[in-house]
Amino acid sequence: MTDPRQILHDVFGFSSFREGQEEIVRAVLNGEDVLAVMPTGAGKSLCYQLPTLARHGLTLVVSPLIALMRDQVAALRHFGIEAGSLNSANDADENRRVTDAVREGRMRLLYASPERLANTSATEWLARAGVNLLAIDEAHCVSQWGHDFRPEYALLGEVRRRLGGVQTIALTATADVATRGDIVARLFETEPRLFIHGFDRPNLRLAMQAKENTKRQLFGFLDRHRHESGIVYCSSRNATEKLADGLSQAGYRALPYHAGMAQGDRAKNQDIFLQEDGIVMVATIAFGMGIDKPDVRFVAHAALPKSIEAYYQEIGRAGRDGAPADTLTLYGLDDMRLRRLQIEDSDASDEQKRVERQRLNALVALCEAPRCRRQTLLAYFGETTEPCGNCDLCIDGVMSFDGTVEAQKLLSA
Ligand code: ADP
Ligand code: MG
Ligand code: ZN
Repeated sequence: MTDPRQILHDVFGFSSFREGQEEIVRAVLNGEDVLAVMPTGAGKSLCYQLPTLARHGLTLVVSPLIALMRDQVAALRHFGIEAGSLNSANDADENRRVTDAVREGRMRLLYASPERLANTSATEWLARAGVNLLAIDEAHCVSQWGHDFRPEYALLGEVRRRLGGVQTIALTATADVATRGDIVARLFETEPRLFIHGFDRPNLRLAMQAKENTKRQLFGFLDRHRHESGIVYCSSRNATEKLADGLSQAGYRALPYHAGMAQGDRAKNQDIFLQEDGIVMVATIAFGMGIDKPDVRFVAHAALPKSIEAYYQEIGRAGRDGAPADTLTLYGLDDMRLRRLQIEDSDASDEQKRVERQRLNALVALCEAPRCRRQTLLAYFGETTEPCGNCDLCIDGVMSFDGTVEAQKLLSA
C-alpha cells in the first residue's frame, strides 16, 4: 500500500490534509465502515478517493446529481486517474469506455446515480466485476427529516448487500442527530465509525440576546461595524423594508432583499452588495444561498432564526476569509411561539413535527445556554470542544436575564 501522504502530494498536489481527512482515510484503509460528517467545502471527496488510490480495486461512488458526478470525474481524469460515470446523459462512446474499463479491471472510481443502482442488473454486473468500496455521497438524502429526501437512497442498503456487504463510507454535511440515525439505520448493518469535523468557525464571534429594545440593540451592534459589509436577517418582507429605511436615515448604506421584490431590483441589490464595500443587506432568508462574498464582517438576526441549522448556515456567511467577524442574534418569546405554531399548523406527519420541535428546542437551548455558546452549538453537531473565549458568554459571563422558565413553559404548552 502506498503512503497516504505521498499520494496526497504526488497525485492531488496538496501539501497537507485538512482537518479530519487523515483520520478518515486511515479508518477506510483499515477496512472500517465510516460515516463522515463535514461541512460543505471541507474536502469529503478526498476521504474515499485517496484510499481508493492507496490500494487496488474499484470504488463505486453514489452521487445524486449528474452535474456533480461530471465535475468529479473530470477532476479525477485531470489527475490521471481512471474514472467514469454511469448516467442517463452519457452517449454511447462514453458508456463503452466506462464498461470496458470496469470489465478490464482498470476503472478506479465509478460514479452512479441511485436510480441507476436501483436497477438489479446494473448492480449484479457490478457485483461480478467486484466492488471494493461503496462511497455514498450526500448521504442525508436517505433521511425523510432532511430537506433533500430521495426514495432511491433508501434502496442503497440493499445495493450494499447485493455487492456482498461491501465496505461502505457515507458522507454528508448534515450533522443533525435524527438524520445521522436514519443514515445508520438504512445504510449499515452494524454501527459505522462516526467522524464529525470542521463545523467550528473560530473567527466568528457568537452572541445572542433576549429582545429588550430591538432597535437599540441592533443599532448598537451596527454602530460598531460602520463601513463594513454585513447582513441583517429579518423575519418578514415588511420588516426588511422598514429596517433598511431606518438604517438609511441613520446614515448607513442599507438595501432590502426579499422574495417579494421584483426580480430586477433583487438582482441589482445583490450585485451592489457583492461589488461594493460597506453595504448592509437587510434580508429575509431568501438571501444568502450560494452567495460567496469572503469579507462579510457581520451577520445579525433581528429575530430568532427558523432552526439551529438555519442559524448555523446564516451566521456562516460571515468571515469566510478567516478574518474576525461578528454575529448577534436577537430572540423573543414571540418568535419562539410563532415558530412553534408554524410547526403545529404545518401538514407534516407527527414524526416530522416531533423532529422539527426538537430542532427548535435545540435553538432555544442555545439562546439560553448556561456557558460557552460555541460549545453548545458544536455539541449539537456532535463535536466536543473547550470553551472558546470568543462568544458573549465566555467574554461577559451569563446574563442576568433568565428566560428559561418562561420559554420552557411556552414550549411544553
Ligand atoms: P465537500 O465534498 O466536503 O464539499 P470537496 O471534496 O468538493 O468538499 O472539496 C472541496 C475543495 O477542497 C476541492 O476543490 C478540493 O480539491 C479541495 N481540497 C480537498 N482536500 C484538500 C487538501 N487536503 N488541501 C487542499 N485542498 C483540498
Ligand atoms: Mg461533496
Ligand atoms: Zn465561548
